[in-house]
Amino acid sequence: MNTSGFLNRFFRYVEVDTQSQEDVEERFPSTEKQKNLSKMLVIELKELGLKDAQMDQFGYVMATLPGNLSKQQSAKVPVIGLIAHVDTSPEVSGQNVKPVVHKNYDGKDIRLPGDSTQVIRVADNSQLKDHLGDDIITSDGTTLLGADDKAGIAEIMTLLEYLKENPQVKHGTLRISFTPDEEVGCGTLHFDAKKFGTDYAYTVDGETVGEIENETFNAAAATFTVHGVNVHPGYAKGKMINAVRITAEIIKQLEKDPAPENTEKREGYLHPYVIEGGVEKSTIKILIRDFVQQGMDEKVRRLNQVRDSVAANYPLAKIELEIKESYQNMKVKLDEEPKVVEYALEAVKRAGIEPHLQLIRGGTDGAKLCFMGLLTPNIFTGGHNFHSKLEWIAFQDMEKAVNTLVQLVQIWVEKSL
Ligand SMILES: [Zn+2]
Repeated sequence: MNTSGFLNRFFRYVEVDTQSQEDVEERFPSTEKQKNLSKMLVIELKELGLKDAQMDQFGYVMATLPGNLSKQQSAKVPVIGLIAHVDTSPEVSGQNVKPVVHKNYDGKDIRLPGDSTQVIRVADNSQLKDHLGDDIITSDGTTLLGADDKAGIAEIMTLLEYLKENPQVKHGTLRISFTPDEEVGCGTLHFDAKKFGTDYAYTVDGETVGEIENETFNAAAATFTVHGVNVHPGYAKGKMINAVRITAEIIKQLEKDPAPENTEKREGYLHPYVIEGGVEKSTIKILIRDFVQQGMDEKVRRLNQVRDSVAANYPLAKIELEIKESYQNMKVKLDEEPKVVEYALEAVKRAGIEPHLQLIRGGTDGAKLCFMGLLTPNIFTGGHNFHSKLEWIAFQDMEKAVNTLVQLVQIWVEKSL
């Protein structure tokens, strides 16, 4: 592996500002500047020999690396997709990113040179202790680094370079896509799965080395709409029905239910996150999250129960409850063809790393792709503290990610023939 080329490539990508923006409906991608990186990647893909590389009107880059198998063999080996996203989080600036390499890491807290208040503390980052002597890459502390997900892009590009330079490594046809707007939950909005044309894919967008993510929450959104009756408060006796009070009672009744602030790991929750309105009409929005369908059903039942109980106290008010599904746990789909995750775990092992299955307490583009018919677990990039000025990644872990991908493409050949 050409290490200096790899590092330069990563730096080249993080230096392009590709921050996406929340709540933009009038255009896609949410910020035009994301295309600056996408265009650069099209050129680089072509230089690596992926002649059909192109960006579509929405900013999705797609390209093909033809397999190097015999015709007979290649008919048996499925086309595999590799996906990473170009945008960085709206939460922290990605403008003028200055990556810093802390060579031969000495085990101490890392103070970032551009802002001395930004310190990556060993006490908060237990994984740092596994990286003595490694080269840790951070921003200068004034921006995020953007390893999420430019590490993933650099790793995929380095895989392509490696395959070009090592034709003895056998692989089937690979499809590559670099997508916009993942961080604002829209990464698959205009993704043309048909054009991509693969049955299986991997996003390279995870964190800790060795982790394969195959589970997400099931997610739904509940909305309570309370209809009260508003009259002049001076003459309201026996007439006013105050939706504000009813709303407060609904929240009060949910006080002891699991919430984001007191749950972790496999626990689901109910999360009231928006209250709007007044005496006449008031709404509460609540996120429902659980890893299993039974848990989702229980939580919906619980909300109905709360509605009925509050309604009994305010018989003249009208309380509506609407539930909308947002996304489902990708594991349901991935379990239909366990090999997709199994091969990824095997690839990690062959790269000399202990593999771990990991769940995501949130969503991911791969989850949506799974339900679009494209089974897509998530592979680690090596990064930590995503969406923060304290983001860091060890270069040695990035090399492990590439090594895992090199193993993965070969495993698909080996197991399919
Ligand atoms: Zn990401």
